[in-house]
Amino acid sequence: MNLFVTGYKKFRRDVYPGLEAQYRALAKSQKPHTLFITCSDSRVRPADLTQTQPGELFKCRVVGNIVPAHGTAAGGVTAAIEYAVMVLRVDNVVVCGHSDCGAMRAFSHPEKLEGMKAVRAWIEHAESAIAVAKGQFGHLSGDEFLVALAKENVISQLQHLRTHPCVATGLRNGSLRVEGWYYDIGQGTIEQLDQVTGKFVELDQVDDRVVAQIS
Ligand SMILES: [Zn+2]
Repeated sequence: MNLFVTGYKKFRRDVYPGLEAQYRALAKSQKPHTLFITCSDSRVRPADLTQTQPGELFKCRVVGNIVPAHGTAAGGVTAAIEYAVMVLRVDNVVVCGHSDCGAMRAFSHPEKLEGMKAVRAWIEHAESAIAVAKGQFGHLSGDEFLVALAKENVISQLQHLRTHPCVATGLRNGSLRVEGWYYDIGQGTIEQLDQVTGKFVELDQVDDRVVAQIS
């Protein structure tokens, strides 16, 4: 673990002093405004993308930013959703997919999942995305198809998200909103799903409450 000692020392020396008051204020409670569900990928850093501070984003990170539909898997994602929505009472849920996602790539190379039963079972929750992507974007190949699939996966996982009773209730009574994002790692850009047109639009071109809160 010596790998992390240098970073820890830097945090103690250069970072913590500047944030000490903030951390002390947050020490006993949190009131994040957003549940941020994204991939475990090491290149996706939500705090960088949104320039948010400690205490603002309640994060749930899972392979492929997959949200199992309600009743299909009572796992950590479901627990994170219920806790964020029912206890922390977040205002927003963001599902953020990204470019070059290994989970999406796995659909094109299932042979690479040999012996990985858990991964196979997990990415089955993205089967509807692959079905739609093949139907709609089957003429694309390589990275272009991968982008289309990753975006379609965001749409599918948002649909799953809405099946959770606490999310459905929040959407119905207006206390919660859900958004889908696609993050391009190389370009450093975020696109948000327009839930009316089904198209992704660069985030700074979208005028809504989520943007206002985190900008
Ligand atoms: Zn990923």
